[in-house]
Amino acid sequence: METTVQPNADTKASRLDGSRVAAEIKREVSGEVERVRREHGVKPRLVTVLVGDDPASAVYVRNKVRTCEELGLASEHHHLPADTPAGRLLEMVAGFNAREDVDGLLVQLPLPKQMDEAAVIEAIDPAKDVDGFHPVTVGRMMQRRPTLLPCTPAGIVELLVREGVEVAGARACVVGRSNIVGRPVAELLLQRDATVTICHSRTGCLPEVTREADILVVAIGRAGFIRGEHVKPGATVIDVGMNRVTDEDEVKALFGEDAPRRLETLAKRGYTLVGDVHPAEVERVAGRLTPVPGGVGLLTVAMLMKNTVRAARLRRGL
Ligand code: NAP
Repeated sequence: METTVQPNADTKASRLDGSRVAAEIKREVSGEVERVRREHGVKPRLVTVLVGDDPASAVYVRNKVRTCEELGLASEHHHLPADTPAGRLLEMVAGFNAREDVDGLLVQLPLPKQMDEAAVIEAIDPAKDVDGFHPVTVGRMMQRRPTLLPCTPAGIVELLVREGVEVAGARACVVGRSNIVGRPVAELLLQRDATVTICHSRTGCLPEVTREADILVVAIGRAGFIRGEHVKPGATVIDVGMNRVTDEDEVKALFGEDAPRRLETLAKRGYTLVGDVHPAEVERVAGRLTPVPGGVGLLTVAMLMKNTVRAARLRRGL
């Protein structure tokens, strides 16, 4: 049956504040860093590796290094040229695995084509796998055993819980089934007793499925793809997408009242960020919505810091 969702012209979804929750998590991590230093004389250390010159990846890594400094963690960044042989990166990973002073190791994805991402992830010592992508880490998560949880999915759950969104018993729908977002976030929502549906590019009648959801998590990598018709009125919508929009008309179509401010950003930077959700349409249907930027991205970094301290405690037996 065809259903039309009437956008509500008078009300807007409230903002699910990623910045507030991320700041709260960072305060807790900073206290934890101070305790580990005072009680054990240890400063947990995160190593980041960036291969190539993808501008978005460079921004992500810069934020991670800056947040380490802000919270009192030690950090070390290695930037390799795009044509680095795969064997060289694997050698470096082995070196970081062997170093006693390294607690967390993150190789920024995506990697250049000559590199096998799965092999690089598997080369990382699971005890230092602060991204939570190693098969051993993932297996432990699936079996609900203590482990390092993947940052973006764990951040989404923290946001829901700390903002008082009822997860247990809710119908949750995750659009996207990647290893780094879709699948793990579906698992973590299941562990919190949501009834979870996972959608992907072969899902038929997508709006009919997504409209069943009280909590809709979208991670597909397509600017403004989820429209008003995909959303149940009053639902909580988590927009994981991070897409650069460079076209003025697209900015006007996506942002409604916010378009003038976004056009200024476009003029200044050459792009503005939009999620996988169409903000102007969905904010008229959803009850709560994460902004992009200022939503899930901030939580990902905060959870990475939390994982680094946790990895230090677990590995060093603190
Ligand atoms: P990905 O590996 O490219 O996976 C995309 C998923 O979306 C796939 O499962 C694909 O289905 C599904 N999909 C694509 N088109 C679809 C459609 N028309 N209808 C339904 N499903 C569709 O992406 P990812 O790594 O999960 O990233 C997704 C987005 O999140 C990107 O914008 C990325 O930049 C962003 N991201 C943000 C953060 C953060 O911290 N905020 C972290 C990670 C990723 P198939 O499996 O059938 O191909």
